[in-house]
Amino acid sequence: GSAEDVRHLHPRWVRVNSLKTSLAHQLSSTFREFEQQDTLTKVMTCASGSSKSLYVDEHIPDLIAIHPSTDLSKTPAYINGEIIMQDKASCFPAYLLDPCSLSGDIIDACAAPGNKTTHLAALVSSSCTKNRRKQMVYACERDKGRAETLKKMVHLAGADDLVSIKTGQDFLRLDPLAPGFANVQALLLDPSCSGSGIVGRDDTAVLQLPSRDVKANDAQGAPRGKKRKRAADARDAVQATVPDVAEEEEMQIGSEDEKLKERLKNLSAFQLKLLTQAFKFPGARRITYSTCSVHAEENENVVTKALSSDTAREQGWTILEREHQIDGMRRWSTRGQLDTCLSTEPDYTIDEVQAHTIADACIRCEKGTEVGTMGFFVAAFVRESATQLSDA
Ligand code: SAM
Repeated sequence: GSAEDVRHLHPRWVRVNSLKTSLAHQLSSTFREFEQQDTLTKVMTCASGSSKSLYVDEHIPDLIAIHPSTDLSKTPAYINGEIIMQDKASCFPAYLLDPCSLSGDIIDACAAPGNKTTHLAALVSSSCTKNRRKQMVYACERDKGRAETLKKMVHLAGADDLVSIKTGQDFLRLDPLAPGFANVQALLLDPSCSGSGIVGRDDTAVLQLPSRDVKANDAQGAPRGKKRKRAADARDAVQATVPDVAEEEEMQIGSEDEKLKERLKNLSAFQLKLLTQAFKFPGARRITYSTCSVHAEENENVVTKALSSDTAREQGWTILEREHQIDGMRRWSTRGQLDTCLSTEPDYTIDEVQAHTIADACIRCEKGTEVGTMGFFVAAFVRESATQLSDA
């Protein structure tokens, strides 16, 4: 295979679930016959039926890449929840949140199907919790059907003890000041988005895989089919803005470009609302915000708007700068788009120096490149100490 082929192939990313097993154990069992390569490219170019190879990721602990032609779905490790198929980029939010370095509970605001929830649980259960109070993960999922999937996934991952699932819970309707949340120190926000970064979603990455593999690699667990996904997005967006606009009606007017613009506008309003809600949890110290979108409207623009909001200033939230990020994320080279952090909108309070800092703090993944990820965006917010909330 040439370099060109490698870019068009999406590896199969396998997260070793440390709640049930270890990387070392998997390397000597499930992956016993695999040869360990020192680069992802080698895995993608030399793999064939006879020579299986794997790559242990250099950024995310407990993550392995294999050639997509290798099917693990029948292995005991997969069936027992010891290994989880999860795109590398989709592992960034929980890892960047670094819940181990805090002692409090965590809210996963938009949890189903639960890839990031179970990753959070694995992170808090590892050695860091020795001699410490148990950290709980509260997983909110508004959609009851998707919450069922979440439940199954949490159970399979062996995370029942660590995760409390809030079925049918709209994160926006939680009261941040409720006594039960006083100990929440971290929030992971992975809201519904356009999904434009998902491999196979459009033709910017030519995927040479059968469609069932596209689904397997769809770490965001988007509903099958464009229409259902769009309907879900529209629901979110409609709730965020005008509650009585019929979604079908909205989608029939205008050109494709206009429709996309409108859709992004509604989605980003919804995303910003979620982020502003997260800022209000009185004990919170750290928040991650992520999407599987490639559009700046849902990414850098949401981050900069959130940072220049009154809530962020009142509550003392700032961006988690690159130099303070956990090792693997600090080393990740693809960062946010500077031009989209430099806005001319009137209520904008971010100057050029800050815009550079913010762009460098934002983490992007490009799809269809040799890094082998889906298109993705993540940024983290911090405040030194929790501030006292005045009411509202
Ligand atoms: N974090 C998940 C994972 O890694 O497996 C993927 C989350 S998916 C992108 C977004 C989810 O958020 C959807 O299941 C959607 O139903 C849910 N959702 C959207 N708005 C919500 C809200 N206001 N409160 C709670 N859940 C919400």
